[in-house]
Amino acid sequence: MYKILQKYFGYTSFFPLQEEIIKEALGQKDVFVLMPTGGGKSLCYQLPALLFNGLTVVISPLIALMKDQVDGLLADGIPATFINSSLSYDEVEARRRSLSNNETKILYIAPERLVMPEFLAFLQGLRVCLIAVDESHCISEWGHDFRPEYRQLKLLKERFPKVPVMALTATATPVVQEDIITQLKLSDCKVFKASFNRKNLYYQIKPKENSYHQILQYLEGRKKDSGIIYCQSRKTVESLAASLQSAGYRALPYHAGLTAEARTENQERFIREDVEIIVATIAFGMGIDKPNVRYVIHYDLPKSIEGYYQETGRAGRDGLKSDCILFFSYGDKMKIEYFIEQMEDENNRQVAYKQLRELVGYCEGNVCRRKLLLAYFGEIFDEPNCGSCDVCLEPKERFDGTIAAQKILSCVYRVGERFGMNYVVDVLLGSKNQKVMQNQHNTIKTYGIGKEYSKSQWQAFVRELIQLGYLKLDGDKYPVVKLNEKSRGVLLRNEKVLLTKPEEAPHIFKAEVFRDDYNRALFEQLRVLRKTIADREGVPPYVIFHDTSLKEMSTHYPRNVSDLLMISGMGERKLRRYGDAFLHEIVNYCKQHNIKPKPRLHKRPESLIKQPKSSTVQMTLELYKQRLPMHEIAKRRGLALSTIASHLEKLMLDGEDISVDSMVDPEKQQHIKQTLKELGMQAMSPVKEKLGDGYSYEEIRLVRAKMMCEGE
Ligand code: ADP
Ligand code: ZN
Repeated sequence: MYKILQKYFGYTSFFPLQEEIIKEALGQKDVFVLMPTGGGKSLCYQLPALLFNGLTVVISPLIALMKDQVDGLLADGIPATFINSSLSYDEVEARRRSLSNNETKILYIAPERLVMPEFLAFLQGLRVCLIAVDESHCISEWGHDFRPEYRQLKLLKERFPKVPVMALTATATPVVQEDIITQLKLSDCKVFKASFNRKNLYYQIKPKENSYHQILQYLEGRKKDSGIIYCQSRKTVESLAASLQSAGYRALPYHAGLTAEARTENQERFIREDVEIIVATIAFGMGIDKPNVRYVIHYDLPKSIEGYYQETGRAGRDGLKSDCILFFSYGDKMKIEYFIEQMEDENNRQVAYKQLRELVGYCEGNVCRRKLLLAYFGEIFDEPNCGSCDVCLEPKERFDGTIAAQKILSCVYRVGERFGMNYVVDVLLGSKNQKVMQNQHNTIKTYGIGKEYSKSQWQAFVRELIQLGYLKLDGDKYPVVKLNEKSRGVLLRNEKVLLTKPEEAPHIFKAEVFRDDYNRALFEQLRVLRKTIADREGVPPYVIFHDTSLKEMSTHYPRNVSDLLMISGMGERKLRRYGDAFLHEIVNYCKQHNIKPKPRLHKRPESLIKQPKSSTVQMTLELYKQRLPMHEIAKRRGLALSTIASHLEKLMLDGEDISVDSMVDPEKQQHIKQTLKELGMQAMSPVKEKLGDGYSYEEIRLVRAKMMCEGE
């Protein structure tokens, strides 16, 4: 398991539960995997697939995503394929032949294709070792993304009674979980549930004042980062996207009103990093596998806590720090209430009210955001400070609010506990509105005694008193504020109340100073290189390397192949394919900026650093150590000179001490270096051509290796 983890995926350790899940699958058991986005679900079936002597079938609803997923596996050197409606008949036939020949380890397929009788028969003729049902919540009508075609997966267990099934989902609600297990008829399966805490996400809520300006300020420091901005209506999407464009940002809209082509194109351009920002309604997101979304902004209020969790969950899949910002206003809340009013079905209306209440509670609260979110999914988070939400990180100042509280409570008492929050505030402020006058509340003692605070400040106090339990809300649609035992303590016994100090000016983002612990300039440079390679190969940039890998490179400045191998995500195939290009870029950068190599913080197992050298390379090394010249080594081994040169190159890049000076004349070296710098290190034939007959390929090769090792 560990060997494969390193060789193919380039990781040194497992994420929580991955190892246990893989072991269970290898034991041919049904498994149910609950992990949040970014938890590392894919590895749970991809790794065992490589250990089975047969095929792993992955069922996924997202046809648009299959190609990228398969490209990602191929880039790691894993024989994978997909079959769906985007392929021509001939192409499908070719893939089926390769499946029959047992040349493929992983097959991605949509459920509707899988259940076609003819295809089922075909699959039954293959040696299927594992069936993974990704996004398995799609089978449940209780979930947020029910897909009727998933229902047919019931027959999996009938058709493949001996094949273990692994169901995976990021849906946290227990009803859906139960339903999945029942529908798929998983037998006596172990349930693995990871924590739904997304540690790398920073949750914050901002009052929605001047929000466009706030967004601009926020984006200022993140011009190269990818992000999603969710809006409630198509109209807002269009106008915000246009404003951002004219402010110089690369932003595209996405909503259900666009044609299917426009949607696909905009999404694709976002994934390929041709644009940084997508402004979208919630139609956008399902099937977004982009690992480096650095922020998700809710410009308007989301529908429910579950929706909010899903949408923010698209940030930071790669585990790097990412922001989730929600703009909250009571105006938005009222707008949604208005929509809810219009709903026909009483049941739906009740559900919508409940969801809105929960969400507003989340926004108003002065409780750790993370704690509330996790509590919603039944998970207890009881660390005193989560370290990554606005409540925990920017604690608000408190003041002795006893007098303010007493004014509110006595006003509630004097209006007979029969009115809502806004009415009470009106009375405190001495409003002359009709209702107040009609009720003759302009004659009570608390009328107009609250002029020291503004309307919104009083409203905030009332909300806080409710949260703190000094007042309660009664009634659903038009809740009335009422007193309780705790309020009497304040009114009668003068108990002290601490309230949040009102803000003077509206919030704006403090210009945060980012202390990067990696070299941002190099990171950006590597990103450009990655984009070039990705475009050339027609894949999204993350298929080449994730941001995590580039960040590690920009932290540790790998100088040679063994350094590179310690970078997370660097499997053997990627090393072979892209190692040189990235090394070259890093080494050049270090040279230009006079950066010395840094010691590593963590080490990879010895076995990987010292790549087992093939015995033929080893023999060349033995002879080299006897100080034999190259042509002599070639002669003794009966191999071509070019082969020996390639052995020596490999040895050098592996960190062996090989002296090029003893093999290539220093003056010639100088010349070769010059030419390599001029023409680039990638292709050798133009270099050879320019240098002419006096120089051999072997010499160029050795000098190039030397340059890479020395960081030139
Ligand atoms: P999910 O499908 O649960 O959202 P992914 O399978 O996409 O999660 O994995 C999330 C991220 O974590 C990806 O960038 C993936 O490459 C990375 N990852 C997964 N397992 C490991 C591991 N054991 N070590 C390091 N990175 C990992
Ligand atoms: Zn917190």
